Amino acid sequence: MCSVPVAVVTGSNKGIGFAIVRALCKQFPGDVYLTARDPGRGQEAVAKLQEEGLRALFHQLDIDDLQSIRALRDFLKEKYGGLNVLVNNAGIAFKVHDTTPFVIQAEVTLKTNFFGTRNVCTELLPLMKPYGKVVNVSSMVSSSALGNCSQELQKKFRSDTITEEELVELMTKFVEDTKKSVHEKEGWPNTAYGVSKIGVTVLSRIQARMLNEKRKGDHILLNACCPGWVRTDMAGPKATKSPDEGAETPVYLALLPSDADGPHGQFVSNKTVQTW
Ligand code: NAP
Repeated sequence: MCSVPVAVVTGSNKGIGFAIVRALCKQFPGDVYLTARDPGRGQEAVAKLQEEGLRALFHQLDIDDLQSIRALRDFLKEKYGGLNVLVNNAGIAFKVHDTTPFVIQAEVTLKTNFFGTRNVCTELLPLMKPYGKVVNVSSMVSSSALGNCSQELQKKFRSDTITEEELVELMTKFVEDTKKSVHEKEGWPNTAYGVSKIGVTVLSRIQARMLNEKRKGDHILLNACCPGWVRTDMAGPKATKSPDEGAETPVYLALLPSDADGPHGQFVSNKTVQTW
């Protein structure tokens, strides 16, 4: 078994994830895995980094596919006996003017951004080694969407006692409510992406609490973050930050020093803890 520290970034063949891998290749003292659902796009991205003199390794990962997640889990367990850094970056967003019915947008967006990210966490968090770091890439849109939820939903999403099962029920209910065209009446905001990212931020708060309860002595730090508004295929060319700038906060959280006791269980933007 390899004793080298290991970092994994999901959805890193392009955009912010690619820039996170680039920065980790420069700063993380160990093996860095660029992962992609499509092996061709992934290998191409690894080759691009190689041209820059950087060495990233590749492993396939489609966060919508449980088998793919489990194959990565088994590989990490076998080769490294665990994992030191996990950055859950993979995500999707329909364009503002996309005419796909809202009900489909809701189902598809929640499937990857919330349920896919959660499945990766379910399989990989047990592998996290002491002093490990987990970064879940959410968005400031989670905060604005939270503000547009009913008071009742806001209370649930801000609760310090909400369980993962209750959160899953709420995310499932959102998709069901859109199917019945009652989501607004039920207090949801009119944004599938926003709700999916509420899910990611709240999931991170719950997971951090669980680590406190079950693995306190392991000093694992887990946070959600917003990369900012970043020029990628998702956000378009008018966004204010370059991908490398967008990678700064996720990389800061991924490389927190081993004597840091925080941030943990926070939503972080511009390297600053935000009020949830
Ligand atoms: P992007 O350029 O569209 O890149 C998204 C990445 O996620 C791609 O590598 C994509 O792979 C991958 N991906 C999508 N579905 C996947 C799946 N099922 N399994 C594995 N990988 C998958 O977007 P980005 O702007 O870099 O976004 C990265 C993260 O930052 C997302 O979580 C996004 O919500 C968040 N974010 C972005 C902004 C912004 O302004 N850009 C702002 C706030 C938050 P393919 O190439 O195969 O599609």
